[in-house]
Amino acid sequence: MINKTQVAIVKAGSYNDDQVYKDIKSTVDLLGGINRFVKKGNKVLLKPNLLSAKPPEAGITTHPAVIKAVAKLVIEAGAIPFIGDSPGGRAINFEKVAAATGMKQAADELGIELVDFKDSVELSATNGGIFKKLNIAKEAIDADVIINLPKLKTHVQMFLTLGVKNMFGCIIGLQKAQWHFKAGVDRKYFAAMLLELYSLLKPSLTIVDGIVAMEGDGPGSAGKLRSLGLVFAGSDAVALDTVICNALGVKNEELPILVAAKEKGIGITEMEKIDVLGERLKDVSIHDFIRPKMIDVMFGPNLLKKFLMNNITSKPIEDRKMCTLCSKCIEACPTDIISIQNKRLEFNYNKCIRCFCCLEVCPEGAMQVKQGALLKVFGYFS
Ligand code: SF4
Ligand code: SF4
Repeated sequence: MINKTQVAIVKAGSYNDDQVYKDIKSTVDLLGGINRFVKKGNKVLLKPNLLSAKPPEAGITTHPAVIKAVAKLVIEAGAIPFIGDSPGGRAINFEKVAAATGMKQAADELGIELVDFKDSVELSATNGGIFKKLNIAKEAIDADVIINLPKLKTHVQMFLTLGVKNMFGCIIGLQKAQWHFKAGVDRKYFAAMLLELYSLLKPSLTIVDGIVAMEGDGPGSAGKLRSLGLVFAGSDAVALDTVICNALGVKNEELPILVAAKEKGIGITEMEKIDVLGERLKDVSIHDFIRPKMIDVMFGPNLLKKFLMNNITSKPIEDRKMCTLCSKCIEACPTDIISIQNKRLEFNYNKCIRCFCCLEVCPEGAMQVKQGALLKVFGYFS
């Protein structure tokens, strides 16, 4: 008999605090209840997606009602929850993010700690992967238990940002930009790093906020909100991501993380080895999910690749009507190749590594992806 992993799906209609608590509790109960994951006295990190300083209704960050519901469950189990993350690029101010996203208010309401990851610890990789060592937030390593709380969103580099990808917030601020520099230009490499990070931290439980999700060109303001009304949960984030892809009509092969997970044998990527509890997949599946315009990523020493990257592949460009010249993208750019000249943005595309940090941090949704002409002709984008 196959030993199956479990993923729970529950319908959730709104972000009303009491309703979300009921829905999250039902989801966790399907998996055996909070006491299966948390023991009395445990220090429990609640790891939301706090990408940028946007209000909950912008759908860019995990909704505070979800955090509060999980924190209450953890407190009821006799454990000590705290919220922690390291938001987006180097332009991001944690206090502003915490206030705008409702996290500060949620933490204050529950009397729990809210931590801006600052110190990191070097850990040796476990899976014999390409990364020998990773620097990871100390608070995440020191926690007895991690409950991973992603937002269901599209991602122009990685297709979707779900359970595995959400752990990227445990890499600290500027180091994150450096990883974008090293790894974000190659999806496969980046996916391998994310899986390594996930394997090292091994969150006990992942609960995905899919009540209001994002489709189109996420994960920032350029994406479009989509009311899915669903909460997903499981102990294996790879299996959970697999089930969500299935519900959205996305093939495993479209998600670099699932491709890499299968190759490396991390988690479960086969639907026949997953027990879906609660809602039946066929009842919650959608068939018109808007895919992100995947950013083609080519990078390397090879001159041809460089030529292709500079002349054919997609690149960031601002919509001048929407751009307020706030400079957030300039501060976030790890290679310092954006400047303001003659009241407009100038990019040195020769040095642009296509990490798209600028797109993630733009508060106006003004930073856009300009598709590579040749790839467009060949129909690489749907
Ligand atoms: S301009 Fe290029 S290198 Fe700079 S943040 Fe944007 S994509 Fe990254
Ligand atoms: S593109 Fe966005 S982040 Fe960059 S200056 Fe314009 S409004 Fe600010």
